[in-house]
Amino acid sequence: MSYVVAVRALCEFTARQGDLDLRFTPSPTGQEGIAGHAEVTARRGPGYQAEVSLSGTHGPLLVRGRADGYDPAANLVEEIKTYRGDFERIPANHRHLHWAQLRVYGHLLCQKLALDEVNLALVYFDIARQTETVLRETQSAADLAALFAAQCERFVAWAEREMAHRDARDSALGALQFPHPDFRPGQRDLAETIFKANSSGRCVMAQAPTGIGKTIGTLFPVLKAAPQHQLDKVFFLAAKTPGRRLALDAAGAITRSAPLLPLRVLELVARDKACEHPDKACHGDSCPLAKGFYDRLPAARSAAAGAGMLDRERLRDVALAHDVCPYYLGSEMAKWSDLIVGDYNYYFDLGAMLNGLTMANQWKVSVLVDEAHNMVQRARAMYSAELERGALRAARAAAPSYLRPALDKVSRSWPVPGVGPYEVAEAPSDKLLDALRGAGAVITDYLAENPAPMDPALQRFYFDALHFGRMAELFGDHSLYDITRNGAKDSTLCLRNVVPATFLKPRFAQTHCTALFSATLSPWNYYADMLGLPADAAWVDIASPFVAEQLTVHVAANISTRFQHRAASAVPIATLIARQYHEAPGNYLAFFSSFDYLEQVAALFAQLYPEIPAWHQPRRMAEAEREQFLERFTPDSSGIGFAVLGGSFGEGIDLPGARLIGAFIATLGLPQMNPVNEEIRKRMQAIFGSGYDYTYLYPGMQKVVQAAGRVIRTESDSGVVYLIDDRFGQREVRELLPRWWHVDQITRSGS
Ligand code: SF4
Repeated sequence: MSYVVAVRALCEFTARQGDLDLRFTPSPTGQEGIAGHAEVTARRGPGYQAEVSLSGTHGPLLVRGRADGYDPAANLVEEIKTYRGDFERIPANHRHLHWAQLRVYGHLLCQKLALDEVNLALVYFDIARQTETVLRETQSAADLAALFAAQCERFVAWAEREMAHRDARDSALGALQFPHPDFRPGQRDLAETIFKANSSGRCVMAQAPTGIGKTIGTLFPVLKAAPQHQLDKVFFLAAKTPGRRLALDAAGAITRSAPLLPLRVLELVARDKACEHPDKACHGDSCPLAKGFYDRLPAARSAAAGAGMLDRERLRDVALAHDVCPYYLGSEMAKWSDLIVGDYNYYFDLGAMLNGLTMANQWKVSVLVDEAHNMVQRARAMYSAELERGALRAARAAAPSYLRPALDKVSRSWPVPGVGPYEVAEAPSDKLLDALRGAGAVITDYLAENPAPMDPALQRFYFDALHFGRMAELFGDHSLYDITRNGAKDSTLCLRNVVPATFLKPRFAQTHCTALFSATLSPWNYYADMLGLPADAAWVDIASPFVAEQLTVHVAANISTRFQHRAASAVPIATLIARQYHEAPGNYLAFFSSFDYLEQVAALFAQLYPEIPAWHQPRRMAEAEREQFLERFTPDSSGIGFAVLGGSFGEGIDLPGARLIGAFIATLGLPQMNPVNEEIRKRMQAIFGSGYDYTYLYPGMQKVVQAAGRVIRTESDSGVVYLIDDRFGQREVRELLPRWWHVDQITRSGS
């Protein structure tokens, strides 16, 4: 049996030394790197071979990779590296690593073509200036073979440990039993769905009700399928921290129930949360945990690999015990972990680390996307970019004089907004994009010369400008380019992604299986279209374990919550809430479309019914206040909590039993009708022929169903939901309600 390792991974393991040094961040994105490689190879003559696949063995190792280019006429192998900034400041240990990679390719090519010697060239391509700096050497095949052997020898012991780990992992996973005595109702169906999707290698969208134990119901079958389908890694991606915590808890339950299972679990945490020295920069001259990072990494990596569960706290302990940065140790351990738990962005955003590693190492991965109804909004944000005129002015004020001409050029290229507050333009002008590129290049140079932390205003504009430039290169029908006027002097330019499918589609294709699951994924075509799921993706609606008798659903069809009717609706809504409370005292949540509306009804309610306890969500809420709001819902308490739909209490909270016995939803949750949403509607109409539904109705009803889903959490719960608006009586709206809320159960009522 051989251990397959990519050339790059081999060299990163064996040839990295010295300090962690990220002075050159932001490095080129993956897209820029690809474009840079294409530019260099396009400059080469006929006969030049790009992307030459090479492989070779040493003991149990099978080393493979693709040399960037080979010129047979010159017998020259090229390794192309894209960079930004001053070439002279690329750290020596980075170049050392690049040479190591190139020499491995040189050896593999000598073997393949039976060469006695080969010319090697390291081509550094400056992304901003589009210029090349080339370093050359000539090596004999014998010397390269010796270097390769030495390199491999330094990796063999680790590779053997990895193979033993994989054997033990897969044999334990093959025998894995569900960690609880039995599946909950619905949970087995969900688990079977996920297992089958992994067996067939198809993506799946699973709508599964709350309360059935979705986290373990999805994690268990993927792990169980891993040995049979030779999965290298499982990524569990969640929109929010509680989802990640549940996944870590589920992984803990699985490993506790299988003592022979050596599963390596890693929690990925954002850099600002994992950083031990927020006042320092990530290089050895500034941060003690970056100094000598690669020299201490082998011992830290070895300890981390033996730790099993590497949640945030455990990873920090291991890192600090070895004096290395916890965040970058986490990035390293992503290469060696079996189950990685993190935010969506680690796999789906533009330069996503887990996607980059998957591609570079040709991993076979299975991805679980928790609470996947959040994906549309989150992915839109990942692929949108904004530039503010005010931020440009602040950056100029903070910038040293050397940078000001470049920023002034951006200012002169800034589009003049029309007379209205909002307009959609065709695309950013070349003049603006050139000016942004120029400013990005000089700031990068400046950064390279001045490694001290940058002024926050300048840094913000710099990162915004780079991101805007990248998204402008990817601009298409999936996005709008709009200009919003902010007062007399300012405007905001936005490349606003509205259909993330274009960007996500390849990400799904690069997995063995992606399973997206949530309690609200209806209608499936909306999510499939917006996210770009493959044509053969399955959609499964798991039957609810709850029965209609548990939930009484009323439609207050005599009330309109439309903006123009809100003042008139306040009394009927307050009366309705009070009547229900007096009939069945207990804890209720009442949801509204905005804080204004909430405050209006809450104030009236307090005035009319002072005897009923009531509390409401303030406009700004610290974490502690959020907890206090929820703590008022006890099994023995009673009262009304007023909240905003789509806010902190509309999803992701669990108030079982008497902690919550009912909800009033005084809105269809429709996004506000404003110029931006109207432009989105037009684009949705043009692309999908479904402008209103895709822009307003489906996103709104998803929030309504999520909020109503707070009431019934277990099979012993019972409660009531009031859907307050006449439009809830419409057939097309009712069709978006969960199937187990029998439609004939809906009655018309009001004040
Ligand atoms: S501790 Fe903070 S400053 Fe130091 S290397 Fe890590 S992330 Fe960078």
